[in-house]
Amino acid sequence: MALVGLSSLYIFLKKEVFEDIIKEVKFEREYSQKPDIWEIVDEGHHSLTRKRVRMIHDLSSQGYTFTIHSPYNITNIADLDRSRRHESLAKLKKSIESAAEVEAKALVLHPGLKAMGKDQTIAERLNEESILTLYDYAESSGIVLAFENMNPATQHFMTKPRDFEDFFERNKVRLKMVFDVGHAYIGSVVNEFISKLSDRFVTVHFHDNRGDRDEHLGIGDGSIDWRGVTSQLIRRDFRGMYIIESVVKPYESVAKIKEMLKPF
Ligand SMILES: [Zn+2]
Repeated sequence: MALVGLSSLYIFLKKEVFEDIIKEVKFEREYSQKPDIWEIVDEGHHSLTRKRVRMIHDLSSQGYTFTIHSPYNITNIADLDRSRRHESLAKLKKSIESAAEVEAKALVLHPGLKAMGKDQTIAERLNEESILTLYDYAESSGIVLAFENMNPATQHFMTKPRDFEDFFERNKVRLKMVFDVGHAYIGSVVNEFISKLSDRFVTVHFHDNRGDRDEHLGIGDGSIDWRGVTSQLIRRDFRGMYIIESVVKPYESVAKIKEMLKPF
């Protein structure tokens, strides 16, 4: 049975306190809407402090399962400025350590940002070096790093299947991916990602939009063909985690995807 989970992003964006995540995780909901796994966003006012790591750890020893989304605001692993880049790396290593402590199933990582108005060669090399550094660090901590495809309308590296194929050709590492369907849909590359890279997917991010911007809508409220996406993933033998990243109707979205995956 596939695992369908929920990201704490909707709680974070509502500016609710971190303790609300704990309440939501423990809340007794009917089975159809109950997330099998939770993705905790380690960011801003929800940054994983020692105390919060202990809270999640307690839940994990009670049988709850987690993935962690590493910090992304004011974080750029391809920053041309050495000290800022190192600060970003330090922040991400700390997130890997937190993930290891709570025995997270994976840690989601965003690629770096392109250097505005400059030659991309150096930034691109730094992006790649940083990813490899973090991959090694995660490996030695026993954490699966899941590297995310980004919205092509942003300044990020790694938005197209070709970017990942090139990376994997140059670097013979067993780095995994989190396939973000909402982001891929904006670039019209959903099918291409699945057909070329599904063997790298450890988790998928599900949230809807209408193809022009990253709205993180409830499943079914945008124009993504979710039955088509799930059946393609099944056909490709994807057996990883489905994480809902909708910031509206999160539990209805969990229920919809659980329903779609029921026959499998
Ligand atoms: Zn992300």
